[in-house]
Amino acid sequence: MSQQRRPLIAGNWKMNGLAAAAAEEIAELRRLLKEKETPACDVLICPPATLIAALAAAARGSSIAIGGQDCHANASGAHTGDIAAEMLKDAGATHCIVGHSERRADHGETNAIVKAKAEAALRAGLTVLVCVGETLAERDGGKTLSVISDQVKNSLPQVASAATTVIAYEPVWAIGTGKTPTPEDVAAVHAHIRAELKALMNDSEAVRILYGGSVKGSNAAELMAVENVDGALVGGASLKAADFWPIIETVI
Ligand code: PEP
Repeated sequence: MSQQRRPLIAGNWKMNGLAAAAAEEIAELRRLLKEKETPACDVLICPPATLIAALAAAARGSSIAIGGQDCHANASGAHTGDIAAEMLKDAGATHCIVGHSERRADHGETNAIVKAKAEAALRAGLTVLVCVGETLAERDGGKTLSVISDQVKNSLPQVASAATTVIAYEPVWAIGTGKTPTPEDVAAVHAHIRAELKALMNDSEAVRILYGGSVKGSNAAELMAVENVDGALVGGASLKAADFWPIIETVI
């Protein structure tokens, strides 16, 4: 954790959540955050797109931001079932995740597609969270750092800046499995990402690099203490405020 970068704790609800229960989770999170006068971190919830407008309304006036989980590279057009970044913004989102490994794997999203989506998110005025991470085979094959380099170099828009761009390092094998890399492994990858960013951006030192993959209350403090870890992207443990809050508490 760094003094110069404000931590971001982001929740990715994936395809989970119905209106009534979701609003209750936001209300509970608001209540918990209110107990801290000025929370020293940013909190973001990325619910399914169907809930963005309602949760943005429920979070209004609080320090909770609402984001999308994906966007299309185009602003409009014949793309049945897709959502444009402008539409996310219109619904009340301020952020958007792109390049999550489930999108890369399930929808064949390449670095080039992820980059186009990130550009679209930035054009729409959203802060973009660009996900990168190696598979288990890549890690076992000693390819982690080269895979990460490739993803960072080829998924980030040219216009990316620290104010509008966040990187999330999520080892694919750690997502939803209960497994996490050692703090040393996380430190090595985050330092590597920071070095890659230096070659790409003027304000690379200010870019937040989140760790994601089986973060929970019991391991968050150890992971958030690692150098160059500026917060977390959390799946399963972000669904309930009672599970998400202990993770937030490690950085406020
Ligand atoms: C994720 O999918 O972004 C994620 C980190 O999931 P989990 O926390 O459930 O491993």
